[in-house]
Amino acid sequence: MDSALDSAIDAAGRRLGYETVKEDQRYVIRSFLEGKDVFACLPTGYGKSLCYFILPLVYDILQGHSSPWFVEIVISPLQALMKDQVKSLQDKGMTAVSVMGREDEETKQGIVSGRYQVVFTTPELLLQNKDWIHVFQSASLTERLIAIVIDEAHCVKKWGSNFRKEFSKLGDLRGFFPSHLHFMALTATASQTTRKSVIKLLGMHKPVTISKSPSKCNIIYFVTEKADEIEVELAYLVDELRAYRTNTTKTIVFCRTYNDCSRLYMFFKSQLKDEMREPIGHPDVTQFRLVDMFIATNTASVKNAILKSFSTSGGRLRILIATIAFGMGIDCPDIHRVIHWGPPSDCESYIQETGRTGRDGLPSNATLYYSRRDIGVMHLDKSIIDYCQNRTVCRRQVLFKDFNYDPATKPIDCKCCDLCIMICQCENCDFTLNE
Ligand SMILES: [Zn+2]
Ligand SMILES: [Zn+2]
Repeated sequence: MDSALDSAIDAAGRRLGYETVKEDQRYVIRSFLEGKDVFACLPTGYGKSLCYFILPLVYDILQGHSSPWFVEIVISPLQALMKDQVKSLQDKGMTAVSVMGREDEETKQGIVSGRYQVVFTTPELLLQNKDWIHVFQSASLTERLIAIVIDEAHCVKKWGSNFRKEFSKLGDLRGFFPSHLHFMALTATASQTTRKSVIKLLGMHKPVTISKSPSKCNIIYFVTEKADEIEVELAYLVDELRAYRTNTTKTIVFCRTYNDCSRLYMFFKSQLKDEMREPIGHPDVTQFRLVDMFIATNTASVKNAILKSFSTSGGRLRILIATIAFGMGIDCPDIHRVIHWGPPSDCESYIQETGRTGRDGLPSNATLYYSRRDIGVMHLDKSIIDYCQNRTVCRRQVLFKDFNYDPATKPIDCKCCDLCIMICQCENCDFTLNE
């Protein structure tokens, strides 16, 4: 044990306002400080950002800099995500910036001169934009540079092979930067296969890997074969909205396509009419809606208004219908239900998307609706087909099979999944079969 490292980690943690640095976080940080590449898979809500937020400060403390000196570059897939992270770093008293390529000369100079402790950017900018490559390679920046962090690292595999090819080329960065510079890759969800290919694509050398199972014991899993139209399957949500209004369980409904999103939205609209807004009959604008739709084509200001209504206390939005454009990194702790109208492409995505629920640790549920047609016509991984069609084994066992599943963490009986509920015999069980 090197106590200097540990006390630097503790001191930095305190200065940033963290109550504690957890054991796994400490292991990630220590391994990195010891000069290794690190691949960490820590579940949503565990606090994986701490692992890299803290780095510049820890280096400053260890090297005896009394004012900020060290800098890290963080590669992140989405602008919205970067903005969130920049804001939370600023709230902690750190300097941070996200660059998308349109920034002014002053910001550029600021980065070159090391004014920002954390610089967020995309793989595209780092690998393709000559002007910016110049900025990132400037000597005054690289002498301060301590880490290349890849956040949401599962994207390296998932997106690298198709619509954002630059993700798969991140390994080339090794040649851009001084060779002593190490990589830290972070994700909430990666199967063993994903982990292996990300490590390979990033050219990580004998990385330390940390993997905590993403199974969270406060989520109950349900799978339902769609027997009927939306009107029948989701009528209970309409009833709930009528009865509980702004106290309705905060819910995300994920759809596969824009068409499904609009169909669902129109369903609520036609059922609820004026009751769709709170107070009833108020103008049909985002801030009054109990149900809304988050899609890629929303303008930035609409997206912001929706996020605000969904994530601030006093916001009215209870049911958010979204394509998978919504979700990654959105920090909204009190979502307690996630519904999938149609299966996602694989178990990894499903775990990631259901991980949005119950971040405050309260009981939550995740329901997947699928049809035989979905399974026939969509491009689905075998893992998710198995998950849908399973009628015999605990859902968790199937879902987390490739994700370090530890059966000891399985919630008891009727707090686990619909299949465990069926056989549960506990005395306060209110799910009775065959009555
Ligand atoms: Zn179960
Ligand atoms: Zn029970």
